Amino acid sequence: MSATLFTGIGELATCEPTLGDESALGLLHDAAFIAEDGRIAWVGRASDAPAADERVEFGGRAVVPGFVDSHTHMVFAGERSAEFEARMAGEPYTGGGIMTTVAATRAASEGELRANAGRLLAEMHRSGTTTVEIKSGYGLDVATERRILEVANELTSETTFLGAHVVPAEYADDREGYLTLVTGDMLTACTPFARWVDVFCETGAFDEAESIRVLAAGIAAGLLPRVHGNQLGHGPGVQLAVEFDAASVDHCTYLSEEDLDALAYSDTVATLLPAAEFSTRSFYADARALLDARITVALATDCNPGSAFVTSMPLVIALAVREYHMTPAEALVAATRGGAAALRRTDIGRIAPGCSADFVVLDAPSHVHLAYRPGAPVVAQAWRAGTALIAPGHEEE
Ligand SMILES: [Zn+2]
Repeated sequence: MSATLFTGIGELATCEPTLGDESALGLLHDAAFIAEDGRIAWVGRASDAPAADERVEFGGRAVVPGFVDSHTHMVFAGERSAEFEARMAGEPYTGGGIMTTVAATRAASEGELRANAGRLLAEMHRSGTTTVEIKSGYGLDVATERRILEVANELTSETTFLGAHVVPAEYADDREGYLTLVTGDMLTACTPFARWVDVFCETGAFDEAESIRVLAAGIAAGLLPRVHGNQLGHGPGVQLAVEFDAASVDHCTYLSEEDLDALAYSDTVATLLPAAEFSTRSFYADARALLDARITVALATDCNPGSAFVTSMPLVIALAVREYHMTPAEALVAATRGGAAALRRTDIGRIAPGCSADFVVLDAPSHVHLAYRPGAPVVAQAWRAGTALIAPGHEEE
């Protein structure tokens, strides 16, 4: 058992309001912390630090918790730059391009899927993500959904079965047949590799009654619910998520007063995905309405090849500050502690005693630089469970 002192931290944003200045960020200056066996053992002022076996010095830089990217679809094959180009030239986003990725993903070997996802995960580590959630949903047949989740399960414990992403073309005239498959054989094949069940509850995907069947079947199989809702228009997704006590309802671009009320009296987190709104040039969610109603907000990338081919949580933070009018502090909390809440986790998303020693060292004096310097490589180092994922020079370990 060895303890490491991380010190020389000019600004430490713990995201734990009982620490430091007792703001939501729990800010400390001239700070230090100790990690022991991968967990945070002590946090405080550098001058008060107890003795440790090893010492790592950060030269006055800012340190924040590792980012928790609680919504991605990063196991897939192919790419859709032509669709993006057409959309930027004025074609609307309908979600129909998902089938392009389904065809490429079905044709890919497990090795190709693993290599593609590994490259994206390396990008995420370089931009400070230390926990990632990964959904299936580009297979839409039993073998491919299972293959996606097997690969995802090698990369994270936060895996989500999203067989109910869209109805595939071969079932266009037999929705009932596809729902039977998703709630039956496909669910059975995927459950060993998944923690969560998700459904795309949206016009053009699955309606309310169908979504209820998908979530209920997943829960009966031992999975925990989460929902894609209210992305392309008003709909039942938020209410459904709250009724099922889902950990999170994701997108929330179109919310009614009733949706805000339902969320405010629930434990369901509203996960916002500004990179999807950016990359589809759509209307941005009303984050201020959620925050003013004291609803827990998470920020995530939605990393996928169609609507948001984005791996960078710092970009998501910058978009949230610019487009959602979140403060840099609110955006950082949503990208760390908020993402942890969206995964019902209390051991990540904060730099506090007992938490996993997951943190990011910024090449900057303050967390504000995450939003203030969009596009710059502000993330210098990322550590998970007290071990460096990327070290200075941005090299993978
Ligand atoms: Zn999604």
